[in-house]
Amino acid sequence: MAKKASSKKRPAAESKATAKAGVSSKVAKKISESPAQKKARAAKITQRLAELFPVAECALHHESAFQLLVATILSAQCTDERVNQATPELFRKFPDAKALAAASQEDVEEIVKPLGFFRNKATNIRGMAAELVSRFSGEIPQNIEQLITLPGVGRKTASVVLGTWFGIPSGVVVDTHVRRLTNLLGLTESENPEIIEREMMELIPQDEWINFSHRLIHHGRRTCVARRPNCAECGLLELCHRQGLAPL
Ligand code: SF4
Repeated sequence: MAKKASSKKRPAAESKATAKAGVSSKVAKKISESPAQKKARAAKITQRLAELFPVAECALHHESAFQLLVATILSAQCTDERVNQATPELFRKFPDAKALAAASQEDVEEIVKPLGFFRNKATNIRGMAAELVSRFSGEIPQNIEQLITLPGVGRKTASVVLGTWFGIPSGVVVDTHVRRLTNLLGLTESENPEIIEREMMELIPQDEWINFSHRLIHHGRRTCVARRPNCAECGLLELCHRQGLAPL
């Protein structure tokens, strides 16, 4: 009975994430699987992603943990490409926490202006730098509890820095690509990044948390792009439920 109700409701209850991905009103039947089957499929997806993207790199340009933290704060509501256009000048003028903490609000705003929310972002990165200097001798703390006390640093930003620079897996980074792809793949039915993160932390081995996110983000940019996922050319096709998409 539960199965019948679910299949009837599915199109009307379509998620925003899948709706953005070229979803037709005629969607494929939901594929049911046990938790063990899902975990086994998640392991295969993780392995296939590693084959597709052997080098899993963060797309934000940086040469230090400090620069990665700044770039990640700036990337909120903005593409990595635009951040990468602004940070060379920012890091040339203010290469470390001490320099950025001493910078004027106006000088920083001028550089980050093209990124949107520039006043808030300038305030946050200056405030973050000032606290790094006053509380942590200018060094990036290597645990999530301390990192999230810094201005502009939430769990996602902290996880990016800890995982990418320090190799410390503190969570699965769920950005817009990861949210969309985990739904399409049928690994989650939630749109809530916190719930998705918890679910992925259950499904994916801890030593793969960092790379899993980076690789899904690459895949979401190259093949499983928003609104027009290229399923016919996708290396994950046989492992993907294509949740919410029209049958091929
Ligand atoms: S088959 Fe590939 S491109 Fe299509 S929805 Fe799944 S992951 Fe995205």
